Amino acid sequence: MQADIERILLDRDTLARRVHDMARQITADLVGPAGHENFREELTLIPILTGSIIFVADLIRHLPLRMRIRLISVTSYPGSATTSQGAALEQSLCSIPSDLTGAHVLVLDDILDSGQTLRLVCDQLRNRHPASLRTCVLLRKDRPQARAFPVDYVGFDIPDDFVVGYGLDFDGYYRNLPDIVTLRPHLLGQAHKG
Ligand code: 5GP
Ligand code: MG
Repeated sequence: MQADIERILLDRDTLARRVHDMARQITADLVGPAGHENFREELTLIPILTGSIIFVADLIRHLPLRMRIRLISVTSYPGSATTSQGAALEQSLCSIPSDLTGAHVLVLDDILDSGQTLRLVCDQLRNRHPASLRTCVLLRKDRPQARAFPVDYVGFDIPDDFVVGYGLDFDGYYRNLPDIVTLRPHLLGQAHKG
């Protein structure tokens, strides 16, 4: 697996520091300057599976708030695709919850690329009439569609390259790499069953 890495873009310590900062900012925005006791309601986190799992696991341990998690699932990069094949909601155990009226919702994804995934999810969530709806991504690619899509919290702006690690996959693999990396180009042309 290590031999497949072309370049480390963001190492684990950089990721950890930024995720902590993001949690501080999210908390401050919700509770205001007076402190946690002002935010008596609860936060509903909606992570988009599967790429966001490690990011969310790290982030929530820095959120000193009453919160719940509702997982949803969207696929746009099936199998070994490295460009979006169009975002589609997976109608399964992880479909959009219906009972979000009045909830403070924070949607989380690993990476903002074309914006299709977040647009699809946010459109559906708005129909549920939440009290507030915010969006948070760990990574945003340097491409016009990504920058044009408004998100409330962005961890890092990165070049328009295909990245894996820290939850992000290629054909289901590499999610367990602790750093965000690019893969050697010859691997991306084919499904890697290593
Ligand atoms: P969008 O819908 O914004 O085009 O793409 C968002 C989704 O595509 C992300 O949730 C992620 O699953 C996938 N994606 C986009 N860019 C990358 C990338 O560079 N690497 C990986 N592993 N997944 C990506
Ligand atoms: Mg995804």
